[in-house]
Amino acid sequence: MPTYTGKCDCGQTTWEVELDKDTASHILCHCNTCKRLSGGAFTLNQIIPKDSLKFTKGGDELKKYTYSGESGKEVHCYYCPNCTTHPYHHQTALGDDKIILRTVLLTPEGTTEFQPAAEIFGKLKMGWEKEVATTFETLPPQ
Ligand SMILES: [Zn+2]
Ligand SMILES: [Zn+2]
Repeated sequence: MPTYTGKCDCGQTTWEVELDKDTASHILCHCNTCKRLSGGAFTLNQIIPKDSLKFTKGGDELKKYTYSGESGKEVHCYYCPNCTTHPYHHQTALGDDKIILRTVLLTPEGTTEFQPAAEIFGKLKMGWEKEVATTFETLPPQ
């Protein structure tokens, strides 16, 4: 499986992740928490096995921000203490062995080659955004 690298904006945190581009399912999230945390209209996310992400620098220094997700369970966001870039988060509702990676931070394919597979929290999408993938009002049906 190909290995991609990522780094935070200041370069204090770097990581490697194994990701199969062909099966990568990118989820665009339009929820208000993503807007506030990213400062953008949506975020690009991929659920991955926890083991496939390895920090090559700064992993031990990451800070954690916890909020209550749509499921009512905790979501832990890990971010660089210097520049606040947020490489991944852990939704406890998904169990302990899965995390959610911010694919847009990968170099360089994450920003161009990975196509969106679905959009979630479509009800909070900004009016000027076009639909680019199957859109769910909130979360996909279980
Ligand atoms: Zn940083
Ligand atoms: Zn979101």
